[in-house]
Amino acid sequence: MDITPVNLLELNAEGFKAFLDSFDHVFSDCDGVIWSKKAYPNVGKFFSLMKKHGKTVNFASNNSLRSKENYEERFKDAEIENGFENLTIPSVAISEYLKSVNFNKKVYSVSCPETNNVLRSYGIECKEGPDLGPEYYEDFVQFTNDDPEIGAVVFDCDFTVNLPKLTKAITYLNRPDVLFLCGATDRHVYYKPGVKNIGTGVFTDLAGEESNRKPIVLGKPGKGFGECVMKRAGVTDPSRVLFIGDMIEQDVGLGRATGFKTLLILTNATVDTMLSHKTIRPDFYAESLGSIVPLLEK
Ligand SMILES: [Mg+2]
Repeated sequence: MDITPVNLLELNAEGFKAFLDSFDHVFSDCDGVIWSKKAYPNVGKFFSLMKKHGKTVNFASNNSLRSKENYEERFKDAEIENGFENLTIPSVAISEYLKSVNFNKKVYSVSCPETNNVLRSYGIECKEGPDLGPEYYEDFVQFTNDDPEIGAVVFDCDFTVNLPKLTKAITYLNRPDVLFLCGATDRHVYYKPGVKNIGTGVFTDLAGEESNRKPIVLGKPGKGFGECVMKRAGVTDPSRVLFIGDMIEQDVGLGRATGFKTLLILTNATVDTMLSHKTIRPDFYAESLGSIVPLLEK
């Protein structure tokens, strides 16, 4: 392991200045960094001080499930202005990607309702479902019929995924010209600290294994997602970006894939779990965004 993560709170004035001089842009994750159920203390102050120090501020979350209204409410509670306008989420990255390749067919979407809303807001036609399947295997043959209108299969956090949907997705993916795109890839999620549960990423993996295809990942930690955030933020040099997150695989992983500097906030990781990770380590770490505020005020 080549990196020894630096605790920002242990830096002297000169060291902290060198840290601040090492980037021009802040990209921040939301859940676990800015808020959990409510906003963490002093997060609004952290971002306004970063702007005062001449940094641009943008946000990048893997969470396509929240509506625009829900995000706007949360940014307001965190006292962050124009948060939603400067936010990139997988549903947006997927839509932007399809736009960039002049996609003109239909999407078969195995995604949450909000992702389908975002796709449709970009003028992309989506087919989805069924949410319920037949009772007998012989009735599943209908899901193995190809549909020439479909030009892409999208997976992004569908909580009602089932055998008919997977069968349809695999049927379309067997045609090599059909694009395979995905948002959040989480194989595991945590409802209680330390208790691992499966996440919707397992279904994306299953569709990929069965069709022998690899998705273009347009959520963290996919490089395509990092590049989309840069494009939307008008940033061209990834080495001048500080990416802030609370998840080693997704956030620090995205930083490594895209070439950002990374700051890990210890909401879900401890110093021990951070140091024991076999392949990925952040450049910097801190307990919370609020803990950095006094250093930014000096
Ligand atoms: Mg997070």
